[in-house]
Amino acid sequence: MEQAPKIQVGEFTVAFLTDGIWRNDGGCMFGVVPKELWQRNHPADEYNRIRLNLVCPLILKGREAILVDTGIGNRLSEVERKIFDHGDGWLIDGLQQLGMEPGDITHLLLSHLHFDHCGGMVRRQKSGALVSSFPGARLFLQRGEYEVAQNSTNERLRAAYRHVGECLEPVMSLVELIDGDVELVPGVRAVVTGGHTDRHQVALVHSLGESFMHLADIVPTSSHMRGPWNQAYDLDALRTMEQKAHYLADAVTGKWWVSFAHDPSVYAARIVNDQGKLILGDSLPVSETLHRQ
Ligand SMILES: [Zn+2]
Repeated sequence: MEQAPKIQVGEFTVAFLTDGIWRNDGGCMFGVVPKELWQRNHPADEYNRIRLNLVCPLILKGREAILVDTGIGNRLSEVERKIFDHGDGWLIDGLQQLGMEPGDITHLLLSHLHFDHCGGMVRRQKSGALVSSFPGARLFLQRGEYEVAQNSTNERLRAAYRHVGECLEPVMSLVELIDGDVELVPGVRAVVTGGHTDRHQVALVHSLGESFMHLADIVPTSSHMRGPWNQAYDLDALRTMEQKAHYLADAVTGKWWVSFAHDPSVYAARIVNDQGKLILGDSLPVSETLHRQ
């Protein structure tokens, strides 16, 4: 596989790792938007699934290596692999292409605990046992997200977090529960947005006048830059709309780089306001090779 595309953000380098292409139901990804509209840019297969990426930015400076989210990983059952059209995950391969090892990751920021963001923090070994993928990392998780994922009795939330027990168990000694916005290293912050989940968080980098934000699941593809285009999974879609409008406006005026968790065509881009419509400016495209692997 080819090396992760990179950008420079002041003193930081950001490399865009991917855990590979997968598929998920288009209706779930676009909520109230009619299929007639979303399928123009996201053609559905015979199961109504669309192609999606699993983008995990790696923020680097000196020895600091801050990974944001981990993709799906290799823990899914055979049946689940078929449902989501995903294999073993390529996050570790991508890291090794950069000349790094899993033990080099110093910080891991999890936007939230859905399986397509936290599954890769553990690896299933041949014996079947799950072990931590990044044993040297401090793992930052919002306390509210952790508590809902562990304790909710609501049927929908229990289903959304049914994998969390087995994913957290091998990494619990690494977890640092945080409450609200936190600076991970000078210049890199975890920022709570809510919306998708109650305590969904994103990563924001400011350095030498330049900025980068990973929008995770509040803007999962560039199509979701439109106000009403939100995932059916969002627990508070109005909050998602308010938060993405706020940060996308900052991204336009500040010429920030932003990245999308699941866009099948671009890893990251600058955003331009073209007569009231948000469009992509400079961007890092996803290669056709990735889609063929
Ligand atoms: Zn997601």
